[in-house]
Amino acid sequence: AKELGRNNFCYYSPELNRHSTERLIMEFALSTAIQNAQLFLLYQPKVDLLTNRITGMEALLRWRHPTLGLIAPDKFIPLAEETGLIIPIGYWAIREACAQNRKWQDYNTTRLRVAVNLSLRQLNDSSLIENIRAILDETDLDPRYLELEITETAVMSNPDKASALLNELRAMNISVAIDDFGTGYSSLAYLKQFPIRAVKIDRSFVQGIPANHDDSAITKAIINLAHSLECSVIAEGAETQQQYDFLRDHDCDSVQGYYFSEPMSADSFGDLLRTQTTL
Ligand code: C2E
Ligand code: CA
Ligand code: CA
Ligand code: CA
Repeated sequence: AKELGRNNFCYYSPELNRHSTERLIMEFALSTAIQNAQLFLLYQPKVDLLTNRITGMEALLRWRHPTLGLIAPDKFIPLAEETGLIIPIGYWAIREACAQNRKWQDYNTTRLRVAVNLSLRQLNDSSLIENIRAILDETDLDPRYLELEITETAVMSNPDKASALLNELRAMNISVAIDDFGTGYSSLAYLKQFPIRAVKIDRSFVQGIPANHDDSAITKAIINLAHSLECSVIAEGAETQQQYDFLRDHDCDSVQGYYFSEPMSADSFGDLLRTQTTL
């Protein structure tokens, strides 16, 4: 027992070991996901609250692995972030979304803006602007039809740098939406200096309206704040008619959520677009 006690610094934990093995397997699998064509995008419509028409869509990443199955971004984006794999994966997503949007434009008269998420690590990549320019060139998409969604927290982690970057994007005619708005610590003064097209109210607030008084008050405040900065406002995660009514009554511009549609395949989205075009 005495000997054992001395050795407790290198005890063996099957639990810990299992987790690190799993992690290694996941990491290896993720590192080959692009070349094995396991990544794909779903598209969720953004809908104008007054006209009920689709005005854009958010591209959302999915990973289908032959043995691990379908993996949601919450399960692999954090790993991609930690390992740096988010850089190639992120560019893959931007390229795929731009190419797909360009294809839709061949068949539809309505031109929509496709939104792609950009994480903090991607924001800090020194080749970001150069690579996005190359992707737009290669896919032949007009930059006006690309939007980047950047979380409030990512922007605020380095406001000066973010400001410079957002101005470069603006100069290229690419729009920026502030994602998960209300969950960070932005001040009005900071937000004013950023060239932002839209603010996305985080789902955590939208879910509480209209019953929860705080969520309703915050939602109203964000709508007013955004409008005073001449930004468009979109509510994410609207699931009920009541939420729709509340958002419309309080002048929110658009919504994205299961009530209108869950994220869908590129083919289904294309079908939906065609029905809208002929309306
Ligand atoms: P997000 O940017 O906040 O995306 C919105 C999430 O809310 C999506 O989850 C969407 O499917 C979900 N959602 C939409 N409407 C509703 C609703 O009415 N109810 C509920 N309960 N959920 C709704 P998803 O697709 O699982 O994506 C999760 C997160 O993964 C995203 O959060 C985003 O941060 C990240 N992500 C997804 N694709 C990419 C990507 O291409 N690049 C990067 N960097 N991150 C991505
Ligand atoms: Ca988003
Ligand atoms: Ca969110
Ligand atoms: Ca988000």
